[in-house]
Amino acid sequence: MKYFLYITGCDMNYSDAERIATVFNEHGFSLASSEGESDIIVAVACSVREKAVHKIYGKVEKWRKINKTRNQENKKTKIMVTGCVLPHDKKKLEEKVELVFEIKEIEKLRNFLQKISNFQFSISNKFSMTNDQYLSINPQYHSKYSVFVPIMTGCDNFCSYCAVPYTRGREVSRPQEEILEEIRSLVEAGYKEITLLGQNVNSYGKILNSQFSILNQISNHNDQNLKIETLKNSMEIENCKLKINNPFLTLLKQIDQLEGNYWVRFYANHPKDMSDELINFLVQSKHFCHYIHLPLQSGDDEILKKMNRHYTAKQYLDLVKKIRKKIPDVVLTTDIIVGFPGEDEKAFNNTVDVMKKSKFDMAFIAEYSTRSGTVASKLNDDVTHAEKERRKKYLNDEILAKSILENNKKMVDKKVRILLSGIDNKGFLKGKTAGLKDVKIPFVKTEHTTEIGDFIDVVITKAGSWGLEGKFQE
Ligand code: SF4
Repeated sequence: MKYFLYITGCDMNYSDAERIATVFNEHGFSLASSEGESDIIVAVACSVREKAVHKIYGKVEKWRKINKTRNQENKKTKIMVTGCVLPHDKKKLEEKVELVFEIKEIEKLRNFLQKISNFQFSISNKFSMTNDQYLSINPQYHSKYSVFVPIMTGCDNFCSYCAVPYTRGREVSRPQEEILEEIRSLVEAGYKEITLLGQNVNSYGKILNSQFSILNQISNHNDQNLKIETLKNSMEIENCKLKINNPFLTLLKQIDQLEGNYWVRFYANHPKDMSDELINFLVQSKHFCHYIHLPLQSGDDEILKKMNRHYTAKQYLDLVKKIRKKIPDVVLTTDIIVGFPGEDEKAFNNTVDVMKKSKFDMAFIAEYSTRSGTVASKLNDDVTHAEKERRKKYLNDEILAKSILENNKKMVDKKVRILLSGIDNKGFLKGKTAGLKDVKIPFVKTEHTTEIGDFIDVVITKAGSWGLEGKFQE
């Protein structure tokens, strides 16, 4: 039997898909090369914007239509949806597909597959896990040299526009030893690029899987006093731990000590949690790239307050200044939302101002769209679609393209290390720098034997807004 994964959204969804693939493989399924030849399709959904949700509904309808043309029940493709799904979408989708499950409920997928596949497998530790431990599943990595390693999932920040706390739930972290073990074996296997993932990596270690289970259990307890007391004790233990030990920094330091030739990045960071210790660590680390993704979202204090972001434009700019001073070659990227409710011209210009001063190397700019159930969904979505588009275009064309070009020009004639990722359709070798900048190099077959996934040193010869050109170092 065959399965197909339709993945939308962020890197976390792609990482989750690698674990879903493992569960299918355990049950004797193989990956289909197209939707049409699959027995089961799993859509890994994203709820970050209305458009992304519509995409999933559109696909589901298309698959259902194909099923209607199939006469025999056993020829029909079973459809499932997981990933970031808001509660009201879950209800609607449940009426259309065989199974909607949260990724932490991956056990539901196992049960489903067991029933339909009659596949016999021996019980191992992997199968005795509880629902919230899905991150312990060994993933089917999508690449032989580049890999995502989730270190935590969920979020407790409740930014007012964001669906994550409602779709992925509260923060849960993987045990440090488990992460270290996975990275150790990846480095030994020759992986070169490791990306630590989490909705808010700086919160790593606040709540571990095991503690989450306890909290889950006590939340179901009937005795209110016992519940509060246990919760309090648990939090006190956590607070103590945080004071003694910064779990995220400790994890990074342990990873950095692993011997090997590899790069590590991590995201996303929350500006309010970006500590001096973390910046200092990046300055002297051996393997961590000088790359920081620092979501700004807005440069206007009123809007930031409405977004529940807990920093001001000045605090953000001070942080950028500090980072650039300590790490002069840092590559700084960000996320921005334009057209948040109440964002008038003045507020938008404040974002323009912070963007100009921050000189980002990349910005992922999104037009605000209401996500139902979030706090912001109660606000009046008062910026027109056309105006959101104009603001997005302005930031992209007038600010971002210029700041990237300015930063890229400083790299000309400099030697940089890149990780090769392939050959483009014009015959150029392509790769990325430690700061995730695209570099292409004329391919000279006789002089250099290089393979995808190799590090090579090049000299930058040309700089553009959306990429660099280089040549092999003489
Ligand atoms: S930090 Fe804010 S934007 Fe990021 S996942 Fe958490 S709630 Fe969403």
